[in-house]
Formats: sequence, C-alpha cells, structure tokens
Amino acid sequence: MSIISQTVPSSMPAPVESRSFDVQRLRDDFPILRQKVHGRPLVYLDNAATTQKPKVVLDALQRYYTQDNANIHRAVHQLSERATREFEEAREKICRFLHAHDHREIIFTRGATEGINLVAQSWGRTFLRPGDEILISTMEHHSNIVPWQMVCQATGAVLQVVPISDDGELLFDEYEKLLSSRTRLVSMVHLSNSLGTLNPVERIIELAHARGAKVLIDAAQSISHYAIDVQEMDCDWLVLSGHKLYGPTGVGVLYGKADLLQEMPPWQGGGDMIKQVTFERTTYAELPNKFEAGTPNIAGVIGLGVAVDYLQSVGLPQIAEHEDQLLRYATERLEQIRGIRLIGQAPNKAAVLSFLVTEPVLAPLDVGTRLDLHGIAVRTGHHCCQPLMDRLGISGTVRMSVAMYNTLTEIDLFANALERIVEEGAKRTRTLAMTSESCPAEAVLCGSTRDTCPPRVDLAFAPAMGHSPTEAAQEILDVFDLLEDWGDRYQYLIELGSKIPPMPEELKTECTRVHGCQSIVHLTARQKPGSKDVLEFLADSDAELVRGLIALLEHVYSGQRAKEILAFDIDGFFRKLGLDQHLSMNRRNGLAAMVQRLKQHAAALAG
Ligand code: PMP
Repeated sequence: MSIISQTVPSSMPAPVESRSFDVQRLRDDFPILRQKVHGRPLVYLDNAATTQKPKVVLDALQRYYTQDNANIHRAVHQLSERATREFEEAREKICRFLHAHDHREIIFTRGATEGINLVAQSWGRTFLRPGDEILISTMEHHSNIVPWQMVCQATGAVLQVVPISDDGELLFDEYEKLLSSRTRLVSMVHLSNSLGTLNPVERIIELAHARGAKVLIDAAQSISHYAIDVQEMDCDWLVLSGHKLYGPTGVGVLYGKADLLQEMPPWQGGGDMIKQVTFERTTYAELPNKFEAGTPNIAGVIGLGVAVDYLQSVGLPQIAEHEDQLLRYATERLEQIRGIRLIGQAPNKAAVLSFLVTEPVLAPLDVGTRLDLHGIAVRTGHHCCQPLMDRLGISGTVRMSVAMYNTLTEIDLFANALERIVEEGAKRTRTLAMTSESCPAEAVLCGSTRDTCPPRVDLAFAPAMGHSPTEAAQEILDVFDLLEDWGDRYQYLIELGSKIPPMPEELKTECTRVHGCQSIVHLTARQKPGSKDVLEFLADSDAELVRGLIALLEHVYSGQRAKEILAFDIDGFFRKLGLDQHLSMNRRNGLAAMVQRLKQHAAALAG
C-alpha cells in the first residue's frame, strides 16, 4: 500500500514552511470553525463529505479574482499570463504532491466523479469489448459504479463485484478468484467513505497487473489523510476531488500514466483541447490539454494548489497520526454507549466511523438531526453506497468523519451528545410503552405507535382537523408561532409524529412504499366510508422526523375533500413553517414525494 511519508523532491522548494502539529493553532486557520450552530459551538464531523478550507485557500481565491482574473493559455496580456502561470504552477504542485512522473499526467477535472467518467467514456468505450470484465468492490461509491454500468451497456463488457466481509473488509481471496484473463480493468476505492475501510491497493494493483488488467484507484477519501505516491503505487489512473482536500469545490484531478493517456481519445471536444480545427478534420492538443476542453475552473485549480501547499506544510504523516488518535478515541467512546452498533470494523480503518443506534432503534436521520441541534454536523443515509447498504442489510448509517482540525474535546462533545440522544430515545420508548398499557382497544384514534397498539385499532385513520386544509394548517401555524426556535419546533414535530395512527405492518408493501425518501416511508389512502370524495390516509416511517412530517400532512389533508386537498397551497404552508430552511434537500424531496402520492389519491377520488 502506498502510504508512505510524503517527501518533496529536494530540487523543489517546500512551498510553505513546515511546522509542528498544533491542532489549536491549526483551527485558527479555518475561519468557518469559529461559528455557533443552534447556539452551540460548531463541531464539524462531516469531513468525508467535504472538508473546510484554510484561510490561505480563501485568500488565494480572493486574490485571483481581484488581481489576476483572466482566461488562460490563449491571450498575450499580463493578466492572462499571470493566470496561466499560476494555473500551470498548480499542476506542477499536484504532480509533485502525487509524485507523478511528469505534469502531463495531471488532468484537471470537476472532481473524482468526472475523472472516473472520463476514463470510462474515453478508455472504456475505446478498448472494452463484449465479454470483457470490469472489477469493482461492494463498498464502492456510486461514482465508481454507475459510470462502469453505463460503459458496460455501451460495450457489452460485464461488471463483476468483489464481495466484502460482514466487518466491511474486502475479501481478497474472492478478488483473486474473480481476476481472470477476461478482466480488463479493476476500479477500486482506496478508503471507503461509508465504512472507513482502507483497501490494500498495492496488492490489488500488483495482482491485476499480473493478469494484464489496468487499475483505477478512487482516492477521493484517502488523499487528505495519507501521502500517495502514484509511481510507487503503480496505479494506471487515480482520481481525487479538491473539496475533500481542503481545496475548493468543482475541481479535481485525474492522474493517468502518460502512455495510457496518449492512447486514449479525448472525451469532450471544445476550445483548448485542439491543435487545429477545420470543418473536415480536427487534430488534438498534446497532454494534458487534450482532456481539458473549455475554460477550466481556474480559481479552483489555483486554490487546490494552495491547499496542497497547506497540507504539506502541516505534514501528512502528522495529520494521519492525529486523525488515527481521534478515530481510536471516538471508537472507544462509542463502544461504551449501550445500544450503538458500529458498522464497518475492518482491521485497517481510517477517518470514518459509521454506526447505528439499535437500542432503542433510532433512525439515522433522527440521530443526525438531533446531533445538529447540539451543533454537531454528521452525515446520515446511504452515503452514495446503496449496494453496500443492501449488502449490510441496512438502509443507511450515521457517519462521523474526522479531519486534521478536529480535537479530542470535539469527540467528547459528540459522544456525550450521542449518549444523551440514546438516553432520551430510551425514555421516549418507555413512555410510549406505558401509554399503550392503558390504551383502550376500542379508542380508535388512541395515538399509540404501531409497535404498541393492539391490532383492533390498526385501521384507524386520522380525522379531519378543521373545516378545510387551510383551517387545519392555521392551527399548526399558530402553534409554530408560539415556539421560539427550530429546536422547539422540531420537538413539537416529533411529538406530533409520535401520535400518528398506527399503520399495520401488512399494509407496508412495495405498493404503498413512497420512493424518493432517504428513510423508509409507506403511505396508503382510502375514500372515507360513507363519503363521496373525502380522503383518509395512513402513513409511517422508520424516522421520527418523517413521522412528524406525516403528522403535518395528516393534520391538513386527512378527512378533507379531495378537491380541497388539490387546491390547497401546501408549498406555501411548508414555507410558512420554515421547512424550506430547516429540512435538507433530500428530506424536502421525500416530503414532496409524499405530497405527490397523496395528490394522486386525491385526483383519483376527485375524478
Ligand atoms: N468516491 C468516494 C469514495 C467518495 O467519497 C466520493 C464523494 N463522497 C466520490 C468518489 C465522489 O466525489 P465527488 O462528488 O467530489 O466527485
């Protein structure tokens, strides 16, 4: 594995003076970390999604746009020359950073995703034949799955998947078995963004090469934690994203061995990638320009160069050591909390800790939302690894991920908050259990949850809460007005959600499943018995926040006439509640999917 100590060739001056590792001093370099979230100091533990940017990077972007902004490569004026020089210097920096053989092997892209798509579309479409095999692993990010599926569809090549153990470790024996003379390409992640598993990429590459296969390494995650030497690793291509490397968004790198890149046709056509264009025929520019059609993200590339300087000034070995300490400590703390199940326990791990709260069962979304109220940013869901989640038999996880600027104190804040969330969850479960004991079976709308309610109340639907959806909505808006901040409103939603009528398990089928939500949602509706056009519905979700949203929908819609449901401005209602500000886009999409399903039922009823 190419995790070696990073060295800058002695002929090249180290760009920024190196210094000893002092996390408190480092934090001063990241202005964004100084803020409060929900009145608490921000604890940013979503670094696998994107890292924060040091001030030197922000300054570089500002300086570029205030002093040097010009298009590169084509003009003779001063600004363009400066911009071009800085852009190409960044390429040299990345070349040294990855220890590539020469700068022509560094192609700037929009990110890791674009790098993989470039190889798939250029190399894949040109060299793959029907029956050729591409090997990936179960733990790949969607961006290292979908481009290969697309190219397989176009060429007749076949995608093979190397399985993993229950602990999230690549099954190396299986990898060896799957490698054959048909294998043309192995494309694998170095450090899994969902599990933190570190794959033995050098062994993977060695075996693939012995079979004559090419290898692409997805270093989107590993690049900010470990020094990578592409020559020592001997990968054929490697991709990374600038924004996970303390650099700007919208910029990334595809490294490729020069001889391979030479053989590959350009992927996109346009300005800057040509030698000569006539209507009859076009000849292409040399590397690297051949793969950089159009105006690139000039500021982003320059910012990425500065980010790499910064990273090297801190020292990757020191960063890795610090992050390993954070990860070990976080693992220890979480292992001590009853009811936490760690997901991904491979012996070789870095930077990422995924888990579930299983006692009581709390949906990842709810844990993440509650952590946010403590000022703690983590990620929840499938992390763009749906096939991996399917393999593990779960729909998602809560994921915390560390960076160089995180501290042990922050890990304590995170673990303490999590402990409280689990305790409060257990208390809520106990209260609900007590309610159900005294719940009279014939009290149809008793408000118990589906876990605790006797079967006889199963088909209870929420009654109308007003003469019209508008009147029912106003009731909720009045309560929201009395509540001071999002924290209180969130609690209120959770309370509403805990009282929705239960939905019997047998109704939770593929037919009633609402897709488009990150959590599991089922929804069914019926015409109210004895009415012509009144709609009643039942819904449920594994996430308490979603149950809260279901409660809102039930409050305004259930028991109302279909025409009124269709006429009601539900988006305006959500805006007035502030949901557009406080719900993530995923969640808003999920809510929109539920509304759409309800409106379909209403439209069917309205005729
Ligand atoms: N691969 C891995 C392992 C990742 O974690 C990510 C981003 N989460 C990507 C690829 C895609 O990166 P980007 O969205 O920056 O292109």
